[in-house]
Amino acid sequence: MYYRKLGDTGLSVSEISFGTIPVLQGSVPVLPDYFNLDEQEALAVMEHAYRLGCNLYDTAIVPEYGDAEIKLGKFAALVGRDNIIISDKARFFGGSEMYQAVEISCENLGTTPDLYFVHQVDAEHEEEVFGRGGALDALAELKAEGMIRYAGIATHYYDILLRGAQDDRVDVLQGSGNLLERGMLDRVREETRFRSKGFLVNKVFAAGLLPARFPVRTLIDFVRSYPVSSVLIGLGTKEQVDAAMGRDTITHRTLLPTFEEVLSVLEKEYNPIPCDRCQRCACPHGTEIHTLFRQYQYFHMGKDYWALKKLGLGIAGSAKRCRECAQMPCMDACPRKIRIAQEMQKVERLVRDYPVGKCPHPS
Ligand code: SF4
Ligand code: SF4
Repeated sequence: MYYRKLGDTGLSVSEISFGTIPVLQGSVPVLPDYFNLDEQEALAVMEHAYRLGCNLYDTAIVPEYGDAEIKLGKFAALVGRDNIIISDKARFFGGSEMYQAVEISCENLGTTPDLYFVHQVDAEHEEEVFGRGGALDALAELKAEGMIRYAGIATHYYDILLRGAQDDRVDVLQGSGNLLERGMLDRVREETRFRSKGFLVNKVFAAGLLPARFPVRTLIDFVRSYPVSSVLIGLGTKEQVDAAMGRDTITHRTLLPTFEEVLSVLEKEYNPIPCDRCQRCACPHGTEIHTLFRQYQYFHMGKDYWALKKLGLGIAGSAKRCRECAQMPCMDACPRKIRIAQEMQKVERLVRDYPVGKCPHPS
């Protein structure tokens, strides 16, 4: 295992880190993998990764990741608290709620976490999180009190990551990216303001869809090729740990496919939208273009029921607005010159052809 600096925190983290979603038990929707591991089994998988050099474990408050947080606390006690770095998070945006969440997490873990993130920050909650008395202020206070060591923002949105990168209260960021959805990673690489922050990357397998099409080693190496601190992989079996962290994976670097080569693999299955989710496009009418395009891709790659359900929310309105849009400012911003308004009609046709409830492969 190789290690990298976690921004300016002074911590050194394993290049590949352990995401705990797959070791949970509990009712959590849309899981990429679900193994229903009991405590003993979960601890054995985490320990296997530890033996391979993993020192960073990421979880979320109960019940966001089921009981994974409790299991991680027990694992920390097993291997020695100071031997691992615990990354935790909660989806609370106000200050007092976040403060209470960290107290509950400490109880669940039986120790204090090293990193604590405001989870899934989006545009709707951004001002509350960053504003006076918001979740970030609470994390700063908790840091001063020694309840956490470092504060973070976890989000799927580039603009929010960039805001976090410029905020002194933020030590670490957690964003998403992979071989297909590489646009945000490209922007992070180009932007020097990210340099002082630790950066963890999740969704490396695109909700479990990419390993059926590309070797796990290639998927991990691709994200490792960026100036990020650690690649977070959800792991639920020792075999998955070996595939992600085994000696062969760590010591050999693979040839990395270009975006066009990735598209050509997908073209064998469907007609992909050539969007890398860079998030440069903005729609003044509020359509979240990159998210709708992602649902289209994920539908064709196998997450059909989930993708359709999300797409059903507002695609007819979005497609109609695109048909009536005279200026189309989104297209000026797209470096890939995607005909966004036309692609939106393609997405709408998909939903019309397969309305939710009549999905060909409901799961
Ligand atoms: S074409 Fe117009 S309405 Fe459609 S996404 Fe672009 S800016 Fe929005
Ligand atoms: S449509 Fe273009 S600008 Fe928008 S996210 Fe995709 S690649 Fe980026």
